Amino acid sequence: MEQIERDTLEVDVLFVGAGPASLAGAYHLRKLIDRYNADHSDGLGEISIAVIEKGREVGSHTISGAVMDMGPFSELLPDWKERGAPVEAEVADEEVAYLTRRSKFRLPIVPPPLRNHGKYVVSLNRLIRWFAPIVEAADVMLLPEFPGAELLYDESDRVIGVRTGDKGVGRDGERRETFQPGADIFAKVTVLGEGSRGSLAKKHISRLKLDEGRNPQVYAIGVKEIWELPKGRVKPGFVMHTLGYPLPNNIFGGSFVYGMQNDLLDIGLVVGLDYADPFTDPHQLFNRFKQHPAIAALLEGGRMLHYGAKSLPEGGLLSQPKYHGDGFLMIGDSASFLNSQKLKGIHTAMQSGMLAGETIFEALLAGRFDDSQLSRFAAKVKASPLHRELYEVRNSHQGFRHGRLWGLFENGIQFATRGMGLLGDLETEPGHEKMRKLHVFNRLPRRQGEYIQADQPRPDNRLTFDKVSDVYRSGTEHGEDQPPHLKIIDPDICIDRCTTEYGNPCQYFCPAAVYEIEEVEGGRRPKINFSNCVHCKTCDIIDPYQIIDWVTPEGGGGPDYINL
Ligand SMILES: Cc1cc2nc3c(=O)[nH]c(=O)nc-3n(C[C@H](O)[C@H](O)[C@H](O)COP(=O)(O)OP(=O)(O)OC[C@H]3O[C@@H](n4cnc5c(N)ncnc54)[C@H](O)[C@@H]3O)c2cc1C
Repeated sequence: MEQIERDTLEVDVLFVGAGPASLAGAYHLRKLIDRYNADHSDGLGEISIAVIEKGREVGSHTISGAVMDMGPFSELLPDWKERGAPVEAEVADEEVAYLTRRSKFRLPIVPPPLRNHGKYVVSLNRLIRWFAPIVEAADVMLLPEFPGAELLYDESDRVIGVRTGDKGVGRDGERRETFQPGADIFAKVTVLGEGSRGSLAKKHISRLKLDEGRNPQVYAIGVKEIWELPKGRVKPGFVMHTLGYPLPNNIFGGSFVYGMQNDLLDIGLVVGLDYADPFTDPHQLFNRFKQHPAIAALLEGGRMLHYGAKSLPEGGLLSQPKYHGDGFLMIGDSASFLNSQKLKGIHTAMQSGMLAGETIFEALLAGRFDDSQLSRFAAKVKASPLHRELYEVRNSHQGFRHGRLWGLFENGIQFATRGMGLLGDLETEPGHEKMRKLHVFNRLPRRQGEYIQADQPRPDNRLTFDKVSDVYRSGTEHGEDQPPHLKIIDPDICIDRCTTEYGNPCQYFCPAAVYEIEEVEGGRRPKINFSNCVHCKTCDIIDPYQIIDWVTPEGGGGPDYINL
């Protein structure tokens, strides 16, 4: 095989993914080093910190709810208000409601885990775009359009850096004239902050068996839109969460509706990726949610502006992989630091990043970057409020294993017993293993290839949209002449088995219409519209055969999220 000559870059610390976890970690680390160097004449000297990001800009792939606990951000930037951080509003008015098909019942009180007074409605996307230049000005190298394609290891499996993705490889896998090999970035410590289902983290966890003895991770997907409503209707800081319709009792999830500035409304649905019915379609469920009379009335006369979707890890503390080792740390959603009971992962991502920063600072002082040094991260987490918060909700998602009603009951017991619940710590199974075959739902095809599409209500392009129209509002783009970054490891399974066993659920679970089964001469075959992909990773997570591998596309490809 022809050797490729690659550029190399050496840094002291490399963060992968410019989300809240990495940006907080890199900024905090830089501040610790600066303070130390100012106080010690023989300080640490020049320490280089870099953050690579696959999006075309830092923030273009950032999407969240979001109601944000500002605690860790205030620690990082105590004067964020004076500096004009783009928060929407302090939570002013909140409600939790239960929806049936036609009615809405407001709960008399907001259950404690969902109380948000003192927190802020934000567009994480805008906040990260605002924060990035501050991090850069503090002397952290931010490198957008740099997707981490593989981790680099030495002969004893110690992480020594990251290889970034090549550019200019054609769809057929051949190099074009524009070919530019990815660079090798070497670092003393590599910090994986790739968010939910990180593509490097997935392979790394499996290679080093970092999840041995832990619960498997379970995920949900959030599908959301930003609407512009008639003047004066949206109250900034309004927060509503709903349970019930359109999700059946055996599908985990719920909705969120947040009031923003400038008449914008943030509305979304979270759907557990551990459902049984292979025809479950989170995007379609979101359309149904918007058709509920109470929600349709809210959106009446409005205009949908932006769309996005992303997975989130729900497994919590008991699904955390070992998040430290020789030459590496894992932070944020990549290491399951999200509080799923509260649907909050921004402040926990930031806290984990900051504790990682403190760990690396000590490692720089000690001049050692092996596991015994970096394992201090785990000790720091354990001694922090972050651990206490996650410990008390450690069984929250598992509580829903018998459905929503049981889950609410069990979460109540868990609240009273600081997370213990009725039966102590509960195990989980991977979400894709919960998917059942077609015959269980009596959903066998009438004719080969003629499936549920006929059952889908036709979107009206006013309140409800088809996936392609929604994807258009995500700003997603990928150069067409590149190999699909969604690799089907064994395409024969799609037709030989999946069609008859599960009815090709990729057509339903993907919220971006990436997957189609097309008729071709002599049969059918999967078609991958990879340029639609919004990087939510749902396919990698829920495919029942686990034959879809999501890898990073060419740098800069993917959504261009605004206000999400
Ligand atoms: C619909 C939805 C609603 C939510 N609501 C809330 C809420 O109300 N409050 C709250 O606190 N939390 C909420 N969360 C969770 C919160 O958004 C996440 O927990 C948080 O963003 C995690 O931060 P992170 O830095 O770990 O990952 P991310 O924010 O996902 O950032 C990871 C970054 O890494 C980049 N990346 C990934 N892989 C690579 C690679 N190989 N190379 C280079 N770059 C890479 C990505 O492009 C991304 O920019 C919500 C999440 C969703 C999806």
